[in-house]
Amino acid sequence: EEEERQQMREALNLASQLYHHVLIHTEYGTAAREYLKQREVSSDTIEEFQLGFAPPSYQFLLQILKRRGFQEELLEKAGLIATRDSPSQKKYFDRFRGRIMFPIHDSQGRIIGFGGRIIGEGQPKYLNSPETPFFHKGNHLFNLHRARNQIRKEQQAIVFEGYMDAITAWQSGIRNVIATLGTSFTDDQARVVKRNASTVVICYDADSAGQSAALRGLEILSNHDCTVKVAQMPIGMDPDDYIRRHGGTAFKEEIVAASLSLTAFKLESLKKDYNLRDEDERMKYLAKAIDVISGLPLAIEQDHYMRRLAEEFQLSLEAIKEEQRKRRSRKR
Ligand code: ATP
Ligand code: MN
Ligand code: MN
Ligand code: MN
Repeated sequence: EEEERQQMREALNLASQLYHHVLIHTEYGTAAREYLKQREVSSDTIEEFQLGFAPPSYQFLLQILKRRGFQEELLEKAGLIATRDSPSQKKYFDRFRGRIMFPIHDSQGRIIGFGGRIIGEGQPKYLNSPETPFFHKGNHLFNLHRARNQIRKEQQAIVFEGYMDAITAWQSGIRNVIATLGTSFTDDQARVVKRNASTVVICYDADSAGQSAALRGLEILSNHDCTVKVAQMPIGMDPDDYIRRHGGTAFKEEIVAASLSLTAFKLESLKKDYNLRDEDERMKYLAKAIDVISGLPLAIEQDHYMRRLAEEFQLSLEAIKEEQRKRRSRKR
């Protein structure tokens, strides 16, 4: 059992080395190298993250690892090899084919699986390792082992949706960065982050999938007693796009520094449901906003957001508080 785990780890390490070698040193890696270059991923970054390329073959990894004495069943268990039952026999073949490979590590820096991106367009865009004895999407965070020291130092972690967001941020010098593995934030991940930082900045894509994932992540992290903030990306951009266009400093100063608290984020999201130029709709928004603020546990927090609301809509604080009282008594 322990020996089997050791062999699986060896297979994962070898696979990573082979994929990396193919990317860097072989003709098969040409298109992938071009693709990464076009995305402005430097060779230092390719080295740091040990990026690789799985050639478009059903037998590449399987053949090499079998020759090195690994059993097919073990490789399947490690998530590297897939199988299909044909009428006569079980057929084994490489799970990752024609993909740029991102090794994924546990918090101690051991490889537990891979994400694989197709070059250019195609479905699925990303293919991850399946759940294995090592790889549990909901427990791990991409780049945590590299970023942990910096996260502790700054007492702040920036969480992205995508591997490429974390890699580009890292390349630009922002090093307190991690990414979820294609799922929304889980309780396990919140516990891990909480051990390392007091503040978490969620920085997801500006699309609606990203925004609702951000809201779920916010709720989970707040339940774990983290100070959570949400960074707002300009429409149609993800952090990778933004950093490549504007640089890491702008990302820190314009995006991270302007990130919103949970309440401010809820109020901003709520705004999207109303046309605030219309007076009736503005009043409806205000009523809903007052309800959100009334739900806050601390009186000082409530006061803070009531004042902000008053200022933003040029109303008196008294009027807003009066409305809050009315809505409360109506609800009883
Ligand atoms: P890129 O910049 O390479 O196009 P991205 O990181 O911006 O990729 P998104 O489409 O924003 O990709 O998705 C965010 C993350 O969700 C990915 O990094 C990946 O982990 C996961 N993901 C995306 N598409 C899929 C998919 N089809 N299957 C599984 N996971 C996926
Ligand atoms: Mn190398
Ligand atoms: Mn994205
Ligand atoms: Mn992207």
